[in-house]
Amino acid sequence: MEFKLSLIVPMYNEQDNIETFFKSIKSTMLEHSYNYEILCINDGSKDNTLPLLRDLAQIDNHIKVIDLSRNFGKEIAMSAGFKYASGDAIIPIDADLQDPPSIIPLLVNKWIEGYDVVYATRSKREGETVFKKMTAHMFYRVITKLTRINIPEDTGDFRLMSRQVVDALNQLPEHHRFMKGLFSWVGFKQTSVTYQREARFAGKTSFNYWKLWNFALEGITSFSFAPLQFASYLGFFVSITSFVYMLYLIFNTIFYGNPVAGYPSLMVAILFFGGIQLITLGIIGEYIGRIYNETKRRPLFLVREEINISSSLTEKENSL
Ligand code: UDP
Ligand code: MG
Repeated sequence: MEFKLSLIVPMYNEQDNIETFFKSIKSTMLEHSYNYEILCINDGSKDNTLPLLRDLAQIDNHIKVIDLSRNFGKEIAMSAGFKYASGDAIIPIDADLQDPPSIIPLLVNKWIEGYDVVYATRSKREGETVFKKMTAHMFYRVITKLTRINIPEDTGDFRLMSRQVVDALNQLPEHHRFMKGLFSWVGFKQTSVTYQREARFAGKTSFNYWKLWNFALEGITSFSFAPLQFASYLGFFVSITSFVYMLYLIFNTIFYGNPVAGYPSLMVAILFFGGIQLITLGIIGEYIGRIYNETKRRPLFLVREEINISSSLTEKENSL
C-alpha cells in the first residue's frame, strides 16, 4: 500500500532540538521506508529556528516550512499545519522529542487496521513536577465531568489522524481552538497506543502555570456551558437561602421586637452578594469575550513565507 505521512511540527524557539529531532524522524521514516513530509510551522520563534529550517529545507525537500507572521500559539500553529498537510495520514508531533518518533509505526499500523484516529497515551511522565502531574490529572477529571465529549486522559496532541478526520477539522472555523477537545468532537473510529513520555531534549517548556490555567479555561468554555449553569444555580441557591433568612428576620422582629443591632449581618449579606455577583459576571464575561473574538472573523493565522510547498494554500482551497 502506498501512502504518505504528514508530520506536523509546531516550533517555537526550538533551535537546540531541530537537528536531533530530524535525525530521529528520518531514521524512523527510512527504517520503514515511509513516504513522508515534515511540515514545520515556525510559530514566530525569536531564536535561530527559522534560519536552521531554511538551511535544512534546502538540502531535503521532505522538509517543508510555513513561517507564521508572529507567535500564534501551538493550537493555531497546528491548525495551520493541518491546512497545508497533503498526506493520507497526519501526525502532529512536538519538536522537543517528548513525543518519540519510534511510536509512529505503531500508530500507522493501527491506522492500516482501519482506525481513523490513533492517539498516543502517555503511561509515564518524565521530567515533570509532581504539581504539574497533579494539576494535569485534575484538569482531565474536571473536563470529562463538565463536557459531554470524552477527552482521553494523559493524551497530548501526538496522534495519527486520517485524511478524512483532518478534512473535518479544517472545516471548523472557530478561533478558540482547544485541539484536544476538537479532536474528540469530530468523532470517527478512535483507538490508542501507550508510550512513555520523556523529558524535553533541550530548551524549556513555554507553558507556565498561567498559560496552563488559561488553557484549561479555554477547554472548559469551548465545550461546556456548565459554568454558566453553575452561575444560575448559585444565584438560585443564594436567593432561596436569603428568602428563608428574610422570613426569619420578619418573624423575629414581629415576635421579639427589633433591638437595632444588625450591622454585622448587613455587612455579611452585602459582601456575600457582592462576591457572588462578581463571580457570575466574570463567568458570563469569559463567554462574552469568546463570542466577541469569534464574531471578528479574522483569519486564523497569517503566513509570511512558505518553503518547499508545492501548491499554495489558496490554490488548494480553490480546488476543493
Ligand atoms: N509551541 C508552539 N508555539 C507556542 C508554544 C509552543 O508552536 O507558542 C510548540 C513547541 O515548539 C513544541 C510544542 O509546541 O514543539 C510543545 O511545546 P512545549 O514543549 O513547550 O510544551 P509541553 O511539552 O510542556 O506541553
Ligand atoms: Mg514539550
